[in-house]
Amino acid sequence: MNDYYADLGVARDATADDIKKAYRRAARKLHPDVNPGPEAEEQFKKVSQAYDVLSDAEKKRSYDMGADPYAGAGAAGFGQGFSFSDVMDAFFGAGAGAAQGRGPRSRQSRGQDALVRLDLDLVDAVFGAEKDLTIDTAVGCSTCHGEGTQPGTGTRTCDVCQGQGQVQSVQRSFLGQVMTSRPCVNCQATGQVIEAPCYECSGDGRVRTRRTLTIRVPAGVDTGTRIQLAGEGEVGPGAGPAGDLYVEVAVRRDERFQRQGDDLHATLELPMTAAALGATVPFETFDGEQELDVRAGIQSGEQIRLRGLGVTHLRGSGRGDIVVHAMVATPSKLTSEQEDLLRRLAALRGEEKPTGHIADPTDGSIFGKLRDAFKAR
Ligand SMILES: [Zn+2]
Ligand SMILES: [Zn+2]
Repeated sequence: MNDYYADLGVARDATADDIKKAYRRAARKLHPDVNPGPEAEEQFKKVSQAYDVLSDAEKKRSYDMGADPYAGAGAAGFGQGFSFSDVMDAFFGAGAGAAQGRGPRSRQSRGQDALVRLDLDLVDAVFGAEKDLTIDTAVGCSTCHGEGTQPGTGTRTCDVCQGQGQVQSVQRSFLGQVMTSRPCVNCQATGQVIEAPCYECSGDGRVRTRRTLTIRVPAGVDTGTRIQLAGEGEVGPGAGPAGDLYVEVAVRRDERFQRQGDDLHATLELPMTAAALGATVPFETFDGEQELDVRAGIQSGEQIRLRGLGVTHLRGSGRGDIVVHAMVATPSKLTSEQEDLLRRLAALRGEEKPTGHIADPTDGSIFGKLRDAFKAR
């Protein structure tokens, strides 16, 4: 014997309302229109059969007394042949299960959102910018003002659906009388047929056009940041309200700086002599030339920070830093005079025969710093 209470997931003392709610919940989850697949379909048949018995006072009474009206019959066929919206309509009345209401649909509807890409230089991301952007979107047709009809002509009532926008039929089922309706294809569910389509827009009520917008790009944007411009997207069919325009930022690669969050990283090549002796080096930033103080004895991988000269924070105030990574350049071509000098220096420093000392990479030595510097990229 089938356990209909378990199939529907309700208690034995469930009220008619509980039973209805449980079935509705199950239909939302298991109906083949919502959940395609043999397993869900089989389960849906089971709960439909359970609902058929438990929702009928007569059948429920005899089932509660031990007689299963469907004993041995299997669950074949229950709930089949009715779309998800039909099942929902049986509970809530026409229109409840459908994506849009029944009855003629407006010829006008909201337009789609549009997405365009805007390429920026790093400097634009640092400070923000105003950019002109040419976009191609649908706008309302000025010939027919969105009506879709040739000037001087109109529309007539669709004779397939008599202006209802829907073609209906009635079916009897275990759910009761189910009204099924389908959108009318003859009039695209609008109930009205255009007699002579506008020659400018072919009856769509909108045309494509190219226009230029000035976009205010806030400081701090990065690749992937989207700027939303309400109502600047596609105008809808029948000159319906426009969707939004999304401008997706793509920041071009910069030759000197790599961005990391709002910090900008750069590598500064230093002659060995300057690294040993210390120097003041001119360094070009987005805020003009800065004096970079290089301490005597700086090692490759050491960082010099220029505070507040990085990218402006997108939200809130303040800016990131510029982080300069030192890279000491060893001279590779020496004149005989230079070589003599270096040999004398080596002798003075007792470095004629290097010992091959192995540095500990964890002690913050140059290798550790180098490694960290490259990991940061
Ligand atoms: Zn037109
Ligand atoms: Zn129609």
